[in-house]
Amino acid sequence: MTFRTRFAPSPTGPLHLGHAYSAILAHDQARAKGGAFFLRLDDIDQSRARPHWAQQIERDLNWLGLSWDGPIWSQHARSEQYDIALTKLWDMGLLYPCACSRKDIKEAANAPQESAPLIGPDGLVYPGTCRRDVTDEKPADIALRLNMRKALQSLELKQISFSEKGSLVSKTASSMIGEIGDVVLARKDMAASYHLSIVVDDAEQGITDVMRGEDLQDASFIHVLLQQLLGYDTPKYHHHSLIRDTQGKRLAKRDDSRAIAKYREDGLTPQDIRAMVGL
Ligand code: GLU
Repeated sequence: MTFRTRFAPSPTGPLHLGHAYSAILAHDQARAKGGAFFLRLDDIDQSRARPHWAQQIERDLNWLGLSWDGPIWSQHARSEQYDIALTKLWDMGLLYPCACSRKDIKEAANAPQESAPLIGPDGLVYPGTCRRDVTDEKPADIALRLNMRKALQSLELKQISFSEKGSLVSKTASSMIGEIGDVVLARKDMAASYHLSIVVDDAEQGITDVMRGEDLQDASFIHVLLQQLLGYDTPKYHHHSLIRDTQGKRLAKRDDSRAIAKYREDGLTPQDIRAMVGL
């Protein structure tokens, strides 16, 4: 199968060094293998996405010398596709509506118990307040959560595994339930969450290889489960190490002093950027 990869930034701020690293890595591999490199805008969260950031992302990638294949996809135009996937999961009985606020979750998770509340890839692991079996029509305008235990049981999965840089990494079903839990797949004011939208987009673009930061490795276990539930192929994953500053601190996405545009204004060249990220 031809190598197909993508870069999927959220247009909520400028591209920084960490983004440049992911983008260059994916682009160069696609070009070296005669494959395809796609650019997608993860702008499902319209309360934070801004057109001027999308324009700057394109400008920065062009300046870095990266080219992409086909049109740029924007998540905000793809609600129907996400709804088809959500309806499928709903009809399988794996979703339930949840009206809990962040505050409700915090209070429930902090209620007296033996162990400290667990933090998963999306923050506090959901304590299950709204979890129930629902048989009516899929509701609109309310968050939908995946019943993690039921989802794993429906596929009789004892673990979730994927190929990471050529070797297999796995998470047991009990870790999926205890450390990740019932993740949100649709939000009240958004057609889909990051997890659902990225999985649908990767499948529709036939992505064979995903390159992104190692901070997303736990999210990938959720993505692989969703791929199996929805009957999609699972790509290979390459979670690269994160770009850190000289003190070893991870670069914040909002640290504008590390923005690619800032380096360009300061007279650095694309080769300097490649050297800074070790490529
Ligand atoms: N929008 C996500 C980010 O910028 C995409 C991550 C991914 O490649 O899945 O972190």
